[in-house]
Amino acid sequence: MSGAASTENMLIIGASLAGAKAAQALREDGWDGPIELVGAEHDLPYERPPLSKGLLQGKEERDKVFVHESGSWYVENRVGLRLGRTATAIDRENHRVRLDDGTELPYGKLLLATGSAPRRLNVFGGDAKNLSSFRTLEDSERTKAQLIPGSRLTIIGAGWIGLEVAAAAREKDVEVTVLEALEQPLLRVLGPEVGARFAALHRAHDVDLRLGVGVDSFTLQDVDGVEQATRVRLADGTELEADHILVAVGAAPNTGLAEAAGLKVANGIVVDATLRSCDPDIFAAGDVANAWHPFYGEPIRVEHWANALNQPKVAAASMMGVTDLKYDRLPYFYTDQYDLGMEYVGHIPSSGYEQVVFRGDPASGEYMAFWLAGGAVLAGMNVNVWDVVDDVRALILSRAVVDVARLQDPAVALADVATA
Ligand SMILES: Cc1cc2nc3c(=O)[nH]c(=O)nc-3n(C[C@H](O)[C@H](O)[C@H](O)COP(=O)(O)OP(=O)(O)OC[C@H]3O[C@@H](n4cnc5c(N)ncnc54)[C@H](O)[C@@H]3O)c2cc1C
Repeated sequence: MSGAASTENMLIIGASLAGAKAAQALREDGWDGPIELVGAEHDLPYERPPLSKGLLQGKEERDKVFVHESGSWYVENRVGLRLGRTATAIDRENHRVRLDDGTELPYGKLLLATGSAPRRLNVFGGDAKNLSSFRTLEDSERTKAQLIPGSRLTIIGAGWIGLEVAAAAREKDVEVTVLEALEQPLLRVLGPEVGARFAALHRAHDVDLRLGVGVDSFTLQDVDGVEQATRVRLADGTELEADHILVAVGAAPNTGLAEAAGLKVANGIVVDATLRSCDPDIFAAGDVANAWHPFYGEPIRVEHWANALNQPKVAAASMMGVTDLKYDRLPYFYTDQYDLGMEYVGHIPSSGYEQVVFRGDPASGEYMAFWLAGGAVLAGMNVNVWDVVDDVRALILSRAVVDVARLQDPAVALADVATA
């Protein structure tokens, strides 16, 4: 591979899954020069999915969540790790990044893997210190300690994280209330048809799920000299008291650094399919990247594990001067809640979907769902049905118009549902 001279520093900002995987890909692709990985968190790069699942439930060990099991991987691979350090400015002209301790690091190529951060609720009391968010290892460990049987947890937001925490909390016999402003959980991702299945799942596990309710404010109380939110006031005037309140209303991409440096930012850092930004020496990958997707013919930003795992391979190649490797994988994600295991592949483009088709009976707990437009499958989800993701992916990539009756019939192979 050519492009960057091997004495140039490959600098990566953001030491989580995308950042750590980019360092790994650079070494695997033969980059012999310096690599530095800077991250605001103090822990070694770790994976977030277990935080709201196995780790929270006490079924997975803390030392299993790290991207590379120990710090020795970074030493052996000559990756300079600067943890607990935040990059505060990019000087594009002089190819330098400033850190919060005043250090300036030079770069030949720079990868921004700054991920995303939980949104806060912009209502009275929304900045109270005791309102938890759920993003980090520390958040997971704190929440785990709060899951005491009989205690009351109110979760604001019925997105993936809110629902996974609700499931873990119910397994510990915590009384859980989930408040969601929209009419169904996960509405923006799954639509009303499938969102309703998740509502039913949580209600069947005695979650007090309240849909279409807005949060008006929090009631603050002085607890040991610190103002704490102790009640949630809903838009209809109802007040809910809780022992713990978790705000899980989604995440926003960490674009401040890029924006201040004059990079193009629109729902993430705008990059092409090679993950290069409008500056030829700066790249972005993972949650923060709004990347042109060749299959969809539009940019998409994906806040999922598989994207942060796989994009770095393309980013690393591009940083090393490869110009024709494009990131064109279809988005994929998964969740585990109670005894439900689910995978989803595909994406609903900005033009939307027209129809949802179920394969198998959703009430049985084992089924698939497909989102269609123009008769073709845009996305598919398998719930407690396994080893089908490759078939769904092939169906989406084929853009074939499908026979809906055949698609609905679990006895017909997915490879045989196209009309012609
Ligand atoms: C609780 C939880 C559960 C999840 N479960 C699933 C799941 O089941 N399935 C799935 O597909 N996806 C899941 N995800 C999503 C998945 O974890 C993310 O898509 C993935 O973590 C994104 O990785 P990333 O490296 O791009 O960004 P992040 O993981 O957000 O990491 C970005 C890092 O950059 C650091 N940073 C930001 N700005 C700076 C700066 N200026 N200087 C230095 N460092 C900086 C941040 O502190 C952070 O450590 C889950 C996410 C969470 C939070």
